[in-house]
Amino acid sequence: MLGVWRNRPIIMTSIIVLSLVSFDTRYAAWSRGNVRTAPKTVHSKCDRSKFKLILDVGHTAEAPGARSARNLREFDFNLRLAKHIEDKLKAEGFAQTSLLVTEGPKRPSLFKRAKTINDSKADLALSIHHDSVPDSFLEEWEFEGTKSHFSDRFSGYSLFVSQDNPKFWASLRFARLLGNRMKEQGLQYARQYALPVMGRYRRKLLDKKVGVYRYDQLIVLSRTRVPAVLFEAGSIINRDEELAMASTERQDMIGAAVVDAVKEFCPSR
Ligand SMILES: [Zn+2]
Repeated sequence: MLGVWRNRPIIMTSIIVLSLVSFDTRYAAWSRGNVRTAPKTVHSKCDRSKFKLILDVGHTAEAPGARSARNLREFDFNLRLAKHIEDKLKAEGFAQTSLLVTEGPKRPSLFKRAKTINDSKADLALSIHHDSVPDSFLEEWEFEGTKSHFSDRFSGYSLFVSQDNPKFWASLRFARLLGNRMKEQGLQYARQYALPVMGRYRRKLLDKKVGVYRYDQLIVLSRTRVPAVLFEAGSIINRDEELAMASTERQDMIGAAVVDAVKEFCPSR
């Protein structure tokens, strides 16, 4: 008995220490591993026909998100790219890929899409967006006779995951796979989210090699109970990148990156 009691403070200390191991420490330990060889279920195989993937089209026709440098709606960019990715995934045998197009005003639409994703019991939800900048960075120019806004200061894609999502680690895994594939396509990620200049839009960079950020509050990530990643595919407020994002060539590159990442992620589900 005495021995047990003597050992007790040691055991309790261990428990306290273990519970104090922070997210950052756990993440750092995990991220030291190569993403290709890290958490891998070697015994499961990918059945592409059964893998349920939801491509969530960011924003709605009524609340279309950002406006591009040439006054086009983000929602239309999101819808076009999501359809492109859907076609590519289906062509590769991922038959249960579906587009989620939501209607209505912004905030209710976010809860609506989270509920739809949860009800679907999908293996993965990927929310497709195109990026802009905070208003304070906007500059004025005229495009086709209309006063417009742009910012050529930043460009690139970025990936966001929420630690409030119960499938955070799987979400992070997919985000890193996709970031790796985007990098292999020669695409750069948006560095600015880690910079102080972003103020309240600043995010913690979880993977500085491939551009995965932590953004806990995003409803489409935090209210979903399946692995979920928000993908800003590129900037449409940057005048050159807006043109690139509208091109079939860029959409092909992004589509190929998503397909390859899904192929790598699928066996773990
Ligand atoms: Zn958006």
